[in-house]
Amino acid sequence: MTTLQQNAPRLTDPEISKKTSQPWITCIVPAFNEADGITAFINALCHYLSGITGKYDVIVVDDGSDDETGLKVIAASGGLPVRLLGLSRNFGKESAISAGLDQAEGEVVIVIDSDFQQPIATIGDFINRWQQGYDMVYGLRNDRKTDPPLRRFLSRTFYQILSRGASIDIPPDAGDFRLMDRRVVHAMRQLPESDKFMKGLYNWVGFRKIAVPFDYADRQTGSSKFNLSRLFELAMTGLTSFSSFPLRIWLGVGLAISSVSLIYAFWIIGVTLLRGPGVPGWATLVVAILFLGGMQLMSIGILGEYIGRIFNQVKGRPNYVVAERHGFPADPAPK
Ligand code: UDP
Ligand code: MG
Repeated sequence: MTTLQQNAPRLTDPEISKKTSQPWITCIVPAFNEADGITAFINALCHYLSGITGKYDVIVVDDGSDDETGLKVIAASGGLPVRLLGLSRNFGKESAISAGLDQAEGEVVIVIDSDFQQPIATIGDFINRWQQGYDMVYGLRNDRKTDPPLRRFLSRTFYQILSRGASIDIPPDAGDFRLMDRRVVHAMRQLPESDKFMKGLYNWVGFRKIAVPFDYADRQTGSSKFNLSRLFELAMTGLTSFSSFPLRIWLGVGLAISSVSLIYAFWIIGVTLLRGPGVPGWATLVVAILFLGGMQLMSIGILGEYIGRIFNQVKGRPNYVVAERHGFPADPAPK
């Protein structure tokens, strides 16, 4: 069994030669209330990793779990190169992954969920692709059968809107399950934004990418931590950080409404000239006022969404706060 080598190269040194046959693999595992399955997962992951490389470590980021997840990780780590990074509260999966990336030291870094939904054996394919020269290898879900129909519909709609306004390509069926070369991780760490939308950032940083298809399995224990409101929050972050399309829509809508109302005004003038003044149109007025009022409120809401994010960024708060470190070398890894 391998342990971490103290004199191993730091991730912040992007010059290191790559494509070694037995790379140092760091796995980042975000976990939130996963006490039921985390021990089995860590054992399975370590078993697999020790079969494909001589040097690896696993960083479990406990994202403020209310259950025993952290304790289970510490218990499972005996004799295994497993580290625990405990966040001070639940910061969300995006922040948990950032926290892991900030501590990762391996030549390749792999992000994988702790619920067995992403097959561990796919890591072998990731490594093969990396050895062929790709810097980012991402898992692409063959289908979304395991998602409830509403979630499937909403994510499809979200990616359609996103692809319209985003300046970069974000593949709809790719998630956080991926391999990153140390150079990619180095680039990811430089991004100072506060509302991180990882799926966008993975693509923003560039580098040579390739997809590896995989079948998304059913969750083995516990339940999904993403309910509709969390997914909505994530979708808003994604849209507002990668697209100004929502702002631009209102220019179009405003133009269309103004043009139609102008035509309507001419029509009324014409009718009045031909037939004389009619009965004042109460219904028309109310409808017009309500419609325009609604439009204005919606557009103010969208502006507010962007301004809220500017405010968050200006406050400059960190993305996460670390409460506990277990199994790390004494000196903290450089930020
Ligand atoms: N997760 C996390 N913080 C959160 C929510 C989820 O670290 O706030 C972790 C969770 O423990 C799991 C992974 O992110 O390892 C994926 O979450 P989940 O399985 O709930 O998402 P889904 O598979 O439904 O997309
Ligand atoms: Mg899951």
